[in-house]
Amino acid sequence: MSESSGLITDHSRHWHDFRYVYPVISRRSGGLSVGINLNVDGACNYDCIYCQVDLTTVRRGEAVDLKVLTAELDAILSAVADGGFWRDEKFNATPTELRRLNDIAFSGDGEPTAHPLFAAACDAAIACRDRHGFTDRPIVVITNATRLDRPDVIAALDRLDAATGEVWAKLDAGREEDFQRIDRPKGNVTLDRVVACIGEAGRRRPLVIQTMLLREGDRVPGEAQIDAYIDRLVELFEGGCGIKRVDLYTVARETRRADLHPLTEAELKAVADRIGDRLPRLSVTWHGGADEAS
Ligand code: SF4
Repeated sequence: MSESSGLITDHSRHWHDFRYVYPVISRRSGGLSVGINLNVDGACNYDCIYCQVDLTTVRRGEAVDLKVLTAELDAILSAVADGGFWRDEKFNATPTELRRLNDIAFSGDGEPTAHPLFAAACDAAIACRDRHGFTDRPIVVITNATRLDRPDVIAALDRLDAATGEVWAKLDAGREEDFQRIDRPKGNVTLDRVVACIGEAGRRRPLVIQTMLLREGDRVPGEAQIDAYIDRLVELFEGGCGIKRVDLYTVARETRRADLHPLTEAELKAVADRIGDRLPRLSVTWHGGADEAS
């Protein structure tokens, strides 16, 4: 899952010679997010038009070494705990108010739940976080939701729930045609199946829904596209899916296609307002926007 979620000062997934773990400062979330990239080979069952993963630099064929991953997480959390992290040349200018661990997030160059070591990596992340005294910091799984109905994924997320876990699930469309055009799933994944997966996961714990809205060439999301998307939110809500929040965001950086552009802040807000009209109890945020100062 390559999308970012906020105003971020450094987008790199590389820090020193670390292979899987990377630090990111986010102004929006107000601190440091420690990312875990299980998909160093860029493996994903989507091919989103807005994906920011650079497939020329991914490490194809490389297996994840869980011991190395755990050692990297240990090293970075240890440095945050003793304050040494903030002396790092890349982070020593971080404003004081952002010098705090906000979360640990499975968010890399592909779909984390599709990795065979996902469950083991969740357990390792919980143990490592707790070892360093950050027991109240959430462990976030940023997912395209296609595998939220798999027994191994369900079991791993249940264990995360008991250890301050969060699920952020992608829902970019309400019509099959929009889903296929924007997310370009590989195989036979349908929007109905994705919505069913989100619904099932959201009945086990409230989750965050993340939605990418963007301008495709001259095309902005029209009324029918947005209404169909909101219909899906209503369907989820009425079906008992717990929704903590809906995050609307737009493209912020270079994507694989040159004709994709951000929506304006006003356009994002208009969608948020439209959701609010149908689902007034739902919390909706929007981030970015072509005219947002950063
Ligand atoms: S889900 Fe989409 S944006 Fe995320 S890594 Fe896969 S192709 Fe890229």
